[in-house]
Amino acid sequence: MYNSSTAFSSSNTAYKNRLFIYEVTGLSQNSVDTKVPIRSSGTVLITVPYSRMNQEMRRINSLGGKVISIKPAGGDVPAPDSQAVTQSAPEQKQASNNKKSMTQATPKKTKTEVPVNIYRPKDPYIGKCTEIYDLVDEGGIGTCRHMTFDLSGGDLHYVEGQSIGIVPPGEDDKGKPNKLRLYSIASTRHGDDLEDKTVSLCVRKLEYKHPETGEHVEGTCSSFLCNLKPGDDVAITGPVGKEMLLPEDEDANVIMIATGTGIAPFRAYLWRMFLEGDKNPDYNFKGQAWLFFGIPTTPNILYKEQLEKMAADHPDQFRLDYAISREQQNPEGGRMYIQHRIAEHADKLWELMQNPKTHTYICGLKGMEGGIDEALSAAAAKHDANWEEFRKTMKKEHRWHVETY
Ligand SMILES: Cc1cc2nc3c(=O)[nH]c(=O)nc-3n(C[C@H](O)[C@H](O)[C@H](O)COP(=O)(O)OP(=O)(O)OC[C@H]3O[C@@H](n4cnc5c(N)ncnc54)[C@H](O)[C@@H]3O)c2cc1C
Repeated sequence: MYNSSTAFSSSNTAYKNRLFIYEVTGLSQNSVDTKVPIRSSGTVLITVPYSRMNQEMRRINSLGGKVISIKPAGGDVPAPDSQAVTQSAPEQKQASNNKKSMTQATPKKTKTEVPVNIYRPKDPYIGKCTEIYDLVDEGGIGTCRHMTFDLSGGDLHYVEGQSIGIVPPGEDDKGKPNKLRLYSIASTRHGDDLEDKTVSLCVRKLEYKHPETGEHVEGTCSSFLCNLKPGDDVAITGPVGKEMLLPEDEDANVIMIATGTGIAPFRAYLWRMFLEGDKNPDYNFKGQAWLFFGIPTTPNILYKEQLEKMAADHPDQFRLDYAISREQQNPEGGRMYIQHRIAEHADKLWELMQNPKTHTYICGLKGMEGGIDEALSAAAAKHDANWEEFRKTMKKEHRWHVETY
C-alpha cells in the first residue's frame, strides 16, 4: 500500500475553533445542567467546542445519554479551551436559524458559473482526438485509455467534476442512431496542456462474455473511444453535471473514494490542487486531500506515477491509499476491496467528516456505496451517532457527493 502521509492530524486544521451541536436523548432533567431545557421531543441540545467533543461524548455516555446527531453550529469557539457550553432557548433558536451558515463548506468568493449543455445530441461539437495512450501497464486486467480531444473550434468549456457526452457513430440493434454515453472529465478546465482548449477522458473498454451465447461482447462507445487514433473525429455533447463539483473554498478538505475509472474526476481535482500553480490565481488549495483508490492489480493503478509523485511532493496535504483487491488481503483474509480500506481508516474519516469544510466524493462502480456506508456506520456507532442521519446531513449541506455507474 502506498501511504504518503503525515497529514490529517486534527490539530493542524482550522476547525478546532468551531462549535458543534449535539442532540442528546436519555438525559433526565437532574442529570444535566439545570439551564439546559429538555425539549418536548425529549432531547437536549448541547453546544460543544471541537476541542472538547470527545470528553463531552464521554460525559454524556456516563450520564446515560445518547448522542443522536452532531451538527456544526456555524460559530467559532469564544476561547480555545472553553468548557462545553449549554444553550438557552433563544440560543437554540439562533442555532437552528443558522442552518445556512452550516453549509460554510461552500465558497464565499465570486462563484464560477457552471456551464451546462453547450452542445446537445442533435448538434454535437465535433472534436479531434489529439492524443490517446494506455493506462493499464503490462500484466494488468483489461484496457483503459487516457484520451484528449481538441475543443479549439467551438465554445465547449467545463469545470472540474463535470461529464461530457460522446455520441458513438453507427446504429444500435434497432437501427436507430447510437445514443450518447456519459464520461467523467479527467482534465481540469485548463486541459492537460493548460491551453484551455482540450478535454480529456479516462475510458475503460467494456468487454464481457454474453451470459447466454458465451460470445465475447465489446461495448459500443467505450470500444469506439478506446480504438480512436489521433486525428479521428468525435461527437461531443455537454458538459453536464453539478453533483461532483470541486468546492471553490480553498480550505475545504476533500475525501475521494474511487474505483477504476472513477479516478477521472479526482485526477481533475488533484491536478487543479497541486499541479497548475499560477494558472489559478484565485485557487490556492490549503485543505487536505485524501484519495482511496480501489483497483484489481498494481498494473491497473491508473495515473500511478503522477499520483505518487503528488503525494510525495505534498505529504502534509495529500494522502493516497490503495485497495488492490487481487494482491492485498483484508483483515479476514479475503480480497482487499475499497470498503475494507475505508473500514481501516473509518475513525479518522469520521473525525474529518465532523469538520463542516470536509467534502466526501465517491465515484466509480455502481454498488460501491453499500460497503462504504457499512464501514462508516461502525465508526459513527462508536460515537453513539447514526451514520444514515449524519450522511443525510452531509448531503443536505452539499458535502456528500456520489457518482457511480
Ligand atoms: C455520469 C457517468 C460518468 C461515467 N464516466 C465514465 C468514465 O469516466 N469512464 C468510463 O469508462 N465509463 C464511464 N461511464 C460509463 C459509460 O457511460 C458507459 O456506460 C460505458 O463506457 C459502457 O458503454 P458502452 O457503449 O461501451 O457499452 P454498451 O454497448 O452500451 O453496453 C452496455 C450494456 O452491456 C451490458 N453489459 C455490460 N456488462 C455486462 C456483463 N458483464 N454481462 C452482461 N451484460 C453486460 C448491459 O446491458 C449494459 O447496459 C460513466 C457513466 C456515467 C453515467
